Amino acid sequence: MTVTVRFAPSPTGRLHVGNARPALINWLFARKQGGRFILRIDDTDRERSRQDHEEAIGRDLAWLGLAWDLKVSQSTREDLYEAAAERLKAAGRLYACYETPEELEYKRKRQLARGVPPVYDRAALTLTAAERQAFEAEGRRPHWRFKLEDGDVRWNDLCRGPCHYHASHLSDPVLVRGDGTSLYTLPSVVDDADLGITHVIRGEDHVTNTAAQIQLFLALGATPPQFAHLPLLTDTAGQGLSKRLGSLSLGELRASGIEAMALNSLLAKLGTSDAIQPRQTLDSLIAEFDIGKFSRATPKFDPLELEHLNARLLHEMSFAEARPRLQQAGLDGDEAFWLAVRANLTQMNDAKDWWHICRETVSPVIEDAAFASQAADLLPPEPWTADTWKGWTGAVQQISGRKGRELFHPLRLALTGRENGPELKTLLPLIGRSRAAARLRGDAA
Ligand code: GLU
Repeated sequence: MTVTVRFAPSPTGRLHVGNARPALINWLFARKQGGRFILRIDDTDRERSRQDHEEAIGRDLAWLGLAWDLKVSQSTREDLYEAAAERLKAAGRLYACYETPEELEYKRKRQLARGVPPVYDRAALTLTAAERQAFEAEGRRPHWRFKLEDGDVRWNDLCRGPCHYHASHLSDPVLVRGDGTSLYTLPSVVDDADLGITHVIRGEDHVTNTAAQIQLFLALGATPPQFAHLPLLTDTAGQGLSKRLGSLSLGELRASGIEAMALNSLLAKLGTSDAIQPRQTLDSLIAEFDIGKFSRATPKFDPLELEHLNARLLHEMSFAEARPRLQQAGLDGDEAFWLAVRANLTQMNDAKDWWHICRETVSPVIEDAAFASQAADLLPPEPWTADTWKGWTGAVQQISGRKGRELFHPLRLALTGRENGPELKTLLPLIGRSRAAARLRGDAA
């Protein structure tokens, strides 16, 4: 049996860190096991689903590097859901209900007032044919509930361990609305069964749906998959992320200079006891992945931690890995450039400034024109290497009598126009003799 998992976003908004995490974990799980990763677009809600959100989901997953083996959209599979509903009706497991939302709310309030759990009372099961006809004559269209079987539903959750729910504590879920469209539960289970999903890995907000879903798999003659419910991310204060999700969308993070592998490195390890380290490739994360490492404790997402990880990722990035990213940033930097500047970056775009300083024009900051022009006179002929700096500044030191910061700081200001930056011994050969000489003489070059 091929391990098959799915990531099932609803295209009603943009992906954010909270749903990138199950996407990544599903993907790593599949790749680790040599299995398949399916992207399932849960677009049965016609009013809220949008094409642009669906396209953005594809772009965001591609950015993270999470290629899918198959993509399906629920809106194209409604025949399957209708057929399943008919089978359930024929088996007596799907029954028509006529309560209005107001009537259901009234019942719920009364139950709560009496101190009993607000479980649907199955009044619809006792309707006579005449009562049903009377509702139909009033113009009421029935919605359809799945009749749960009494008894314990158990499963061994890969994250939460043994779980069980007693069906009598659950309401029979509505599977089909009055207008004939299906709600989430039916399409989800039908697709999981039809697509051969072996493991459902998702957020723990779905734990309470699982017992009913297991019964639905069985009622449809399918074997339930294994389940893993991951705790939901919170902010550093332990609050849900929902209020901040706009700024934590993948699009925003990408625009703010976060590297996909920084986010992957964080999300693959948050909530596990593994140390969070920058990883340059998904292959490293696959090698380290084990679903059993995810604990039930609530993982906290800290944007600052992500920024630090992003900087560390860049500091350790080889030129081979950096090259396509440099090109995307419009820079034709070579290995010497990359190795010179990477330790000074907090995001890839910062490389543009250093590119500018090495290859384009800088307005030099001259503190002492006589000293700077003396230093210019001493610049050796090219070719320059990483040793040029030492020889040159040795000569400048001898003639000027300056040393330490007094010697180096004015040279940095003149050559780069900046207070700080990469080591000058690596920058100097990149700047080259003619620019260096002009800048030391106070000319923009
Ligand atoms: N579309 C559902 C959601 O985003 C999928 C839940 C599931 O994985 O079963 O919550």
